Amino acid sequence: MSNLLRRNTRAVVVDHLKIGGGSPVVVQSMTNTDTADVDATVLQVLDLWRAGSEMVRVTVNTIEAAAAIPAIRVALDNQGCPVPLIGDFHFNGHKLLSQYPECADALSKYRINPGNVGKGSKKEEQFATMIDAAVRYSKPVRIGVNWGSLDQAMLASMMDENSRSDSPLAADALMREALIRSALESASAAEVLGLPADRIVLSCKVSGVQDLIAVYRELARRGDYALHLGLTEAGIGSKGIVASTAALSVLLQEGIGDTIRVSLTPLPGESRTTEVVVAQEILQTMGIRSFTPLVTACPGCGRTTSSFFQELAQKIQQYLRQQMTIWRSTYPGVENMNVAVMGCVVNGPGESKLANIGISLPGTGEVPVAPVFVDGQKTVTLKGETIAEDFQAIVDAYVKENYGEGGRLRATRRIIPVKAIA
Ligand code: SF4
Repeated sequence: MSNLLRRNTRAVVVDHLKIGGGSPVVVQSMTNTDTADVDATVLQVLDLWRAGSEMVRVTVNTIEAAAAIPAIRVALDNQGCPVPLIGDFHFNGHKLLSQYPECADALSKYRINPGNVGKGSKKEEQFATMIDAAVRYSKPVRIGVNWGSLDQAMLASMMDENSRSDSPLAADALMREALIRSALESASAAEVLGLPADRIVLSCKVSGVQDLIAVYRELARRGDYALHLGLTEAGIGSKGIVASTAALSVLLQEGIGDTIRVSLTPLPGESRTTEVVVAQEILQTMGIRSFTPLVTACPGCGRTTSSFFQELAQKIQQYLRQQMTIWRSTYPGVENMNVAVMGCVVNGPGESKLANIGISLPGTGEVPVAPVFVDGQKTVTLKGETIAEDFQAIVDAYVKENYGEGGRLRATRRIIPVKAIA
């Protein structure tokens, strides 16, 4: 669906997926279970995968976690879940990857944070041990630099150098430069150790929107490694969603970013899958990829008589999302469908005509009927107590007729190629 340009980064293959090289932007997420708890981790990975996460990262922080990875992989495979598992390593990754070869082999990709590999003389050796494992097991690696765990020795040396410079960088610019240098130098070191460039993904995560945009523009300018985008520690609720959307949208619009994660802090009791939904909605509302039919709804105003239209909009959106687990394979192309749920006659009929299916509910003072528009034509007027159920039945019938076998809107291919820029 996209005609946005994407930067032509090196393609990195992760199991059945391709990251970069003009491939569709991949959505990923991360569990927050104790990885050593196989059952809990498998359940959450399945949830994230069913919500649409195409890769799932798990922390591998202890010997128990490393020992659990093969069992998690087997359990996922037994459930028909092929989602690539990414191991997140800090501090002891060199030991865990060496001592638990089944873990090293069962993971599909490793994330290595150069700031947390080791200190002093140990750093190079421990980094090399991890890269050796990636080479031995033919795994790609994300060199994932993070603002909060930046290589302090490198930063100190750059600060020294900066203080002696005739044109020193400001503190924030120096920090950004340190992040970029840490990523690029680690990637070069990995290549020297035998890891090919097409098995390296880079990320430089920060928590400020403007910093993230500046860092990734520069990272994209200086190389052609595939890039993983994400605002780290984005925050909770609407703040996390807005900050992630603001930062990622600017970069994606410029063709930067081959895979994304939205690092939301879940509200108490909130599903971990919200971060997947937000990531998908960023890509879909920007016209980069489609995942699930979206509902256009007006905000409501003094003309709306009740909360009925809000409830209908929410119900239909939830229904469409739930149905996608079945529809994805049965009705390819349905993810591009637009549904409108509008609150009154002012914009209701106009917006409904622009959608595949739209309903204009009655506002204050209007006759209590709800005209339904299908492909721009008014087809039926609903009324009474069963408007919601009747409208859902119309949506179902439209999906079957138009996206089923031989349907006129059925997608003939699932992956839409995008143009690439140098
Ligand atoms: S469509 Fe009608 S109810 Fe909805 S915001 Fe506009 S005027 Fe208000």
